[in-house]
Amino acid sequence: MVNSPHNPVSHPPEDGASPAALLHRAWEMHLSRPEESFRLAETAHTQAMIAERVYLAAWARLTMALARWRWIGADPDSLEEDFADAGRLMHALGDERGIRLTELGAAVACFKRGEWAEALVFFEALVGRFDVNQLDADNFYPLFGLATSYVYCGNLAEGLRFGYAGLHLTQQLNLAAHQASMSLPLGVALMAVRDPEESAAIFERAELIAEKIDSTMLLKATRTNLSIVFRRMGRLAEAEERIRWVLGEAPGMIGAQQFAHFTAAELHVQQGRIDDAEAELARAIACAGPAPQPLDAAKIRFLSAMIASRRDQLTDAIAHFEAVVALLPTVPALRFSDRALVHEEFAAALAASGRFQEAYQAQLHSSREYLANVSVLNRVRQFSMQVRHEIGRVRAQLVEASQERRTLQHFNAELSLAIEKSTREAERFRDEATHDPLTGLVNRRYLDQALPSLIKLAQQSATPVAIAFIDLDRFKRVNDDFGHAMGDTVLRGFAEAALEQLRGSDIIGRYGGEEFVAAIIGCGPAAAEKRLDDLQHRVRHATFRCDGAELSGVTFTAGVAIYPEDGIELDQLMRRADERLYRAKEAGRQRVVADDTPRLYAR
Ligand code: GH3
Ligand code: MG
Ligand code: MG
Repeated sequence: MVNSPHNPVSHPPEDGASPAALLHRAWEMHLSRPEESFRLAETAHTQAMIAERVYLAAWARLTMALARWRWIGADPDSLEEDFADAGRLMHALGDERGIRLTELGAAVACFKRGEWAEALVFFEALVGRFDVNQLDADNFYPLFGLATSYVYCGNLAEGLRFGYAGLHLTQQLNLAAHQASMSLPLGVALMAVRDPEESAAIFERAELIAEKIDSTMLLKATRTNLSIVFRRMGRLAEAEERIRWVLGEAPGMIGAQQFAHFTAAELHVQQGRIDDAEAELARAIACAGPAPQPLDAAKIRFLSAMIASRRDQLTDAIAHFEAVVALLPTVPALRFSDRALVHEEFAAALAASGRFQEAYQAQLHSSREYLANVSVLNRVRQFSMQVRHEIGRVRAQLVEASQERRTLQHFNAELSLAIEKSTREAERFRDEATHDPLTGLVNRRYLDQALPSLIKLAQQSATPVAIAFIDLDRFKRVNDDFGHAMGDTVLRGFAEAALEQLRGSDIIGRYGGEEFVAAIIGCGPAAAEKRLDDLQHRVRHATFRCDGAELSGVTFTAGVAIYPEDGIELDQLMRRADERLYRAKEAGRQRVVADDTPRLYAR
């Protein structure tokens, strides 16, 4: 698998005759319709072997291997054999790529067995041998494997990095099925870092592609994931529509079908339709058969616990939760966010039964899982619980102490220490919770909380405030032309410039992607425009450097709304600013628009 224009991995041999024609068809659909592709390739392989056409046989075997990879229920040993056999045949034909195929097979087999850390090592070695500047279709497989393994190992930063790189590659090469496939790990990673909007956007794009290429497998995968992400966003009707479609389709891959039942059951729990949840769970259990895999067993227990807990059958719920927790060490495959959720729900059930000490322990477990990544709300919730717990603990000691005639004062001191410590930790977590790790700016969550208070303050002190929506121009091109790392460098550079340009009392935050929101205190439209124009000047003349490449001339477009002239409610102001941003983009970008006067030129 070398980057050459005549690389047969990208283009299997084609001579119009069977079995070559058969193989060609199999190859075309190995990502979109893996089961069908596998069967065609298998036939082509047999025919090629009989006809002693070894080269064709090698390709048929490779097609079988790749199709089997995308086929959820596939057995890892057979898969590894497919790859190894394809590799051997190629090697025998003097093709160096044979060895790499065998390695790829080993990586994929590890992955299929749930040994993600091992898979990661293999994929890393494979990707390491690519020239990243010379990506071609063959790089898709190691890249896809790498992104997926990182996501499953919980290393979401790397999962995102390689996911975006893969998406970029597949878009550039115009490979539809590859693009939709790459969207899966990327979307899941985005979901796990709590970026549901971006995650939904990625999955929705993949859904469109899957529709266009008529791939039931990809449609099922994207719609199941869309159902999960919509559920998390509270868009329950859309979540339901997607999962209903998946469940209405003929069951194809057992694993996928079961996952869909689990997803539907979770949705029903959230909708409070506990009987429906129970029915879906029963279907998932039926898919799992008499001896479910540990991962399935854990999911079944977890949903049983959730159902019992929603019915206030706390004793049952706790028993199920205990079983899940006992299963956790046997299921490294379960993502950290799900593990954290198990502990968290367990803690809630324990707390509801008055078992606070254990609830506290469960919360601690939950927090440990969360430390692998961000789950802001739960952390904050957990720390407030911890503070409450600390107070309770010290009070209990206080009672004991008075019996032992210790002084009240001593314990009061301990109480304040405990509270202080918890508060400090809560603050530390709040800091992580409210800041964007890439740019160090405050994040959308912070803005959502801070801006209403800011407007209230402005009201009390009768001070104008400018709210600006800032969106970098043609930023997608930066990523496309210079790579995602350059994109990140520009985002960081912009943040730095904005911090320097604005005053300490102003607020600048990353609203998402390449969109920023600034609140500039004491400014009317003209002053705000001037400040942002100055920032524009600074950004446009900055040179961004990354991996030896240089980029300058970056610009942004901003829409500004002024409190109180354009509105006294934050919603209204944000809407106005957003409308003006939109118009400014339409008018040709690189400008700041703070009123509704039409303007013919950019400044
Ligand atoms: P316009 O001028 O109309 O705003 O065009 P645009 O290309 O900036 O707009 P679009 O919204 O289509 O593209 C935004 C891009 O920003 C797409 C997304 O991949 C990229 N992006 C979002 N977050 C990040 C990030 O954290 N790092 C990098 N490098 N890119 C990001
Ligand atoms: Mg944008
Ligand atoms: Mg933009």
